[in-house]
Amino acid sequence: MKAAVLEELEQIVVKEVPTPTAGDEEMVVRVRTCSICGSDLRIYHHGNPRVKPPQIMGHEIAGDVVEVGREVTGFAVGDRVSVGADVPCGVCEFCRAGYGNNCLINYAIGYQFPGGFAEYIKLNATTMKFGPVHQIPEGLDYETAALAEPLGCCVNGLERVNVGPGDTVVIIGAGPAGCLLGQLARQLGATRIIMAQRSRPRLEIARQLGVDVLVCTAEEDLKERVMEATDGSGADVVVTACASPEAQMQAVDLVKNRGRINFFGGLPKGSPKIQLDSNRIHYGELLVTGSHGCVPWHHRAALGLLGSRAIRVRSLITHRVSLDDILKGFEIVENRTGMKVIVEP
Ligand SMILES: [Zn+2]
Ligand SMILES: [Zn+2]
Repeated sequence: MKAAVLEELEQIVVKEVPTPTAGDEEMVVRVRTCSICGSDLRIYHHGNPRVKPPQIMGHEIAGDVVEVGREVTGFAVGDRVSVGADVPCGVCEFCRAGYGNNCLINYAIGYQFPGGFAEYIKLNATTMKFGPVHQIPEGLDYETAALAEPLGCCVNGLERVNVGPGDTVVIIGAGPAGCLLGQLARQLGATRIIMAQRSRPRLEIARQLGVDVLVCTAEEDLKERVMEATDGSGADVVVTACASPEAQMQAVDLVKNRGRINFFGGLPKGSPKIQLDSNRIHYGELLVTGSHGCVPWHHRAALGLLGSRAIRVRSLITHRVSLDDILKGFEIVENRTGMKVIVEP
């Protein structure tokens, strides 16, 4: 089969590799769609201790089941499936408690396990037993179904800060994650969504998705706009959907007393330290948390939200590339000329 193989840092080669076959507890899927994630770019440029080249990346996957091991139950050849990223090991303390994304091994598709930038992907026994592999709801296309992975991370992210009816939610960063978070916050009952982004074009997409207040931070003061929109009290929730230390530091000034903050986006590897106004957290009784990835039920919930059309992602899919052109796809994501870029192997 054809696959895009990460051979070393900043070197992806599209080439023929052996087509996988399924053992008794495994399954093989013909990949129809695998969207490019920001983390694929980070691995490509900077590596990741969980990714040992040569490896096939890609963890936002949808396709058709073409081979099912004898001992696998619940799936048949011809099933349409969506596959997420984080795979619980199933046996450690965190996985048994249902927090597989906090597993110390933290297996993931496209990390330790071969990913979806290939014509076929083998889902191993651990993935079949504990991982995010779910049937695509009827009538839902592959592209949309593949985005259940990033949306699942958003379900986890908003669950961590308990977004609910009547909340005012500030989302900093109007990229694909920010746009998904905004729509999801609305579904969870948030009455006012404020979205901030440095540049204008991405804010336009957010506007079409029903965001209430758009703030272009290159031209406007975010704190001023948030206070104006909340009669001076601040937001209930702030989610930083970007890799900006400034956004994290500013978050404590944007929430009201007892407000909740999620550092949804990680910071660049070499500079994870920030200065926080800790007294703002102390006196305001703020809750500051983070979130990372998701567990299989978040992925299933996300697929359900997409299947019921509660969340729409079509306008976020701006580009499609073939496997041969995967590096062009990486470039589009990197230059932020597009939102979600789909690879069609
Ligand atoms: Zn992803
Ligand atoms: Zn585990």
